[in-house]
Amino acid sequence: MRPAEEQTLTIYERSQEGRRAFQAPAAGVPETAVEDLLPDWARREAPAELPEISEPEIVRHYNNLSKKNFDLDTGFYPLGSCTMKHNPKVNERVAALPGHARLHPLQDAEYAQGALELMWNLQGALGEVAGLPHVSLQPSAGSHGELAGLLLTRAYHEDRGEHRHKVLTPDTAHGTNPATVTMAGYDVVKVGTAPDGGVDLDDLRSKADEDVACLMLTNPNTLGLFDENITEIAKIVHEVGATLYYDGANLNAVMGRTRPGDMGFDIVHYNLHKTFTQPHGGGGPGAGPIAVSDRIEPYLPRPQVVRRESSNGQGPSFDLEFDRPKSIGRLRGFQGNYGVFVRSYAYILSLGGDGLQEASETAVLNANYLLARLKDPGVAEHLPAAYDRVCMHEFVLSGAPMRKHLGLKTLDLAKRLLDHGFHPPTVYFPLLVDEALLVEPTETETKETLHAFADVLAEILREGGEDPEIARNAPYSTPVRRLDEAGAAKRPVVRQEL
Ligand SMILES: *Cc1c(COP(=O)(O)O)cnc(C)c1O
Repeated sequence: MRPAEEQTLTIYERSQEGRRAFQAPAAGVPETAVEDLLPDWARREAPAELPEISEPEIVRHYNNLSKKNFDLDTGFYPLGSCTMKHNPKVNERVAALPGHARLHPLQDAEYAQGALELMWNLQGALGEVAGLPHVSLQPSAGSHGELAGLLLTRAYHEDRGEHRHKVLTPDTAHGTNPATVTMAGYDVVKVGTAPDGGVDLDDLRSKADEDVACLMLTNPNTLGLFDENITEIAKIVHEVGATLYYDGANLNAVMGRTRPGDMGFDIVHYNLHKTFTQPHGGGGPGAGPIAVSDRIEPYLPRPQVVRRESSNGQGPSFDLEFDRPKSIGRLRGFQGNYGVFVRSYAYILSLGGDGLQEASETAVLNANYLLARLKDPGVAEHLPAAYDRVCMHEFVLSGAPMRKHLGLKTLDLAKRLLDHGFHPPTVYFPLLVDEALLVEPTETETKETLHAFADVLAEILREGGEDPEIARNAPYSTPVRRLDEAGAAKRPVVRQEL
């Protein structure tokens, strides 16, 4: 097959009747017709429509597919809010050990002691990072942790005979926050942002009343700024009897330096696929464990992984505790995405407490270094920082001047970056910055990469000054150009007609 065809044909289009990648050896026992083994209703009427191809063709097919997308192992991926840092390969090795990878999810606790011990230890380590003592690993993503947090909030209030209706979210919040509020049956009440980028305290005071169940907050927030009024915010929220929920997506900025529990938060979620290096971005499994304070603990999902001390001197054992009468119940099948737990636990053990702290410090240093580099005149005049402050692990630029001076949108700049081999930053989020560009370099990138990125931004802006059409029609080097994203969401074609 010609290389160009290798690149474009689907695996079904390559199919040749009778071609096989694998031939089973003769069974060595008398063969029985399938009709004698399975009743009519359990058999296919026609053979499954599977592609019939050779093994090298399968390998080339998947290898080609793997190169069509941008990924972290290909290049710099400063996608703000997503923490696309390098995932150490040793974590994959550990997760693939047969004792982990082949453990059946229905295995009895008695025969899964090692896995339960790992989960129990991970709960302890995560609790330490958050400064909150009780952890549930069940939720499958940050947004799922948010839902758990609001269900816990409701259980907490209802147990006290209270029925509250509102949840506060700042206008910088990630879209999943208000979506979760609605899904949990609460009304969203937006809280404004002060000129320094933090929560507007007066607005918060005017909206915090006895009908508020919870305030959901990210700190540092999605502008990459640490809210210095956090203890005051916690006080306002607790005075009206509401819970304070920490969206932990930005934990990569503060691990080992400060703890949400110490700031006054009652419930925290972690995105193990962001902060604790589970590979993500391809829609694969993540995990969004939660940690809670003592007053929320009775309502945690069940079962909980627990450690039992033995009475006969045999050492502790681990178990799944179902007997939790006030629990909000189960959030998913089985115990969560176990492979993710293994990777995150391996990561935490390999870095240690001081290593996690260093990771956060380096993430913040890298972001501030890049932010300082982007103050270069050729860049800052078109792409100024939205908030001229020391940032945490990420920062927001505004492309509004670029649009005005050069006629280039943030989207054009983002697409042109792809031609230079860089994944674009997050664009048009947070919503309150015009033509926003949210840049998160992470701790695993070198100084040379940060400089190269700054140089390329300057180059694209210079090119835009000479001929804006170039960026307006970018990208040129990718397998597909500009996609109809709304169309893809509204009319997805997920099935190839044969
Ligand atoms: C990523 C993110 C979420 C949602 O987490 P998922 O794991 O993708 O569900 C929530 N809030 C913020 C600030 C985020 O960056």
